[in-house]
Amino acid sequence: MKGGIRSRFLPDLFVDTIYDIDINALKERGIKAFVFDIDNTLAPYSMPSADEKLIKWISDLKERGFEVMIASNNGKKRVSLFARSIDCDYISRACKPLEFKIKRKLSSLNIKPTQAVLVGDQLFTDIWSASLMGMYSILVRPISDKEGWFVKLKRGLERKILNS
Ligand SMILES: [Mg+2]
Repeated sequence: MKGGIRSRFLPDLFVDTIYDIDINALKERGIKAFVFDIDNTLAPYSMPSADEKLIKWISDLKERGFEVMIASNNGKKRVSLFARSIDCDYISRACKPLEFKIKRKLSSLNIKPTQAVLVGDQLFTDIWSASLMGMYSILVRPISDKEGWFVKLKRGLERKILNS
């Protein structure tokens, strides 16, 4: 475990979106498995299944030899449907930041937590659970925030245009 209380909530890496993750760098670190949060990490809450870009990106990960799975605190209905769209294993009601369900799933694949990366948008669930297990952790900027900013920007522009 990483030392210090504050560092338990700090990710090893912070990226804007999952597509900014340097896959080669993780491969070089000995990472064998990706554990993804869904909501606001892979997709906004409103999106029931993966879009084409995500499906392609996940299938590239698998082709490069990574195990891919989902660990979401959301319910089985949401999580199983989304997992099916990217054809991967999942843990629903994952109880993050508690680590036991993720640990159990990794161990069933013979993967040590230190060989896995957890990707999520929340410090107190995703990043904390990774840190409890000694997993590498990547924080992404929540997708809905980005939409929020975009909508605000658009509204601002719309107002300017309407006023002129
Ligand atoms: Mg999330």
